[in-house]
Amino acid sequence: MHREEAPSREQGPVVVLLGSPGVGKGTQGVRLGRELGWAHLSTGDLLREARSAGAPLGKAAQEYMDVGRLVPDELMVALLSEKLAAMPEEQGVILDGFPRTEAQASALDDALDKAGRRVGRVVLLDAPEPVLVKRISGRRLSPSGRVYNVHYDPPHRDGICDDTGEPLLHRSDDRPDAVRTRLAVYRETTAPLVGRYEQRGLLVHVDGQGAIDEVHGALLAAVKA
Ligand code: ADP
Repeated sequence: MHREEAPSREQGPVVVLLGSPGVGKGTQGVRLGRELGWAHLSTGDLLREARSAGAPLGKAAQEYMDVGRLVPDELMVALLSEKLAAMPEEQGVILDGFPRTEAQASALDDALDKAGRRVGRVVLLDAPEPVLVKRISGRRLSPSGRVYNVHYDPPHRDGICDDTGEPLLHRSDDRPDAVRTRLAVYRETTAPLVGRYEQRGLLVHVDGQGAIDEVHGALLAAVKA
């Protein structure tokens, strides 16, 4: 009996954004996703949404996030695998904040492998630590999603969103102790992933210090190259 072949669908690219807290992965990831029509998957955002919704994952993650430590691998791997599995294979994906450990990187390979996909590029966004500290400690968030920085991009009225008049929020893990922990965790646990992807010929460096538009241009070129 003749069976029709399923139409061959092209697998969407998978790009990993790697880089220290505060380097701009979130800002750039959202914009890149919008421009390329790819999904931007930020594990930090997903955890914060789970917290706001009072979901069990959010409750489990809270104690780690508030002090700047990593949420356990098994929770993160389950979260990411679920999100990837729910996505059509032809959908391009930008991963922001995952993987952050060797175990997560291996789990990502396995999850993609099942769908006949693989990481196509890893972009390392770089900036010196004093710049990162200033960016993170100055960050204030509007409930509308707009991000301000008291040093670089302050609101007109102290602590108040220009657009909505709502009070701005200071993420609990943007306070100095938690920031120091996050930077140390990045250096010790996440930065070693650079070697893994370099060996596979997937790594591209992008300087995260320029203006947002400049970094975006460099990132776009790195992803398309
Ligand atoms: P940043 O990269 O600026 O530290 P994120 O919003 O990406 O901020 O992450 C905030 C927090 O969420 C992290 O400090 C960590 O506690 C948790 N988190 C996010 N992604 C992961 C992950 N892949 N593994 C473990 N914890 C994570």
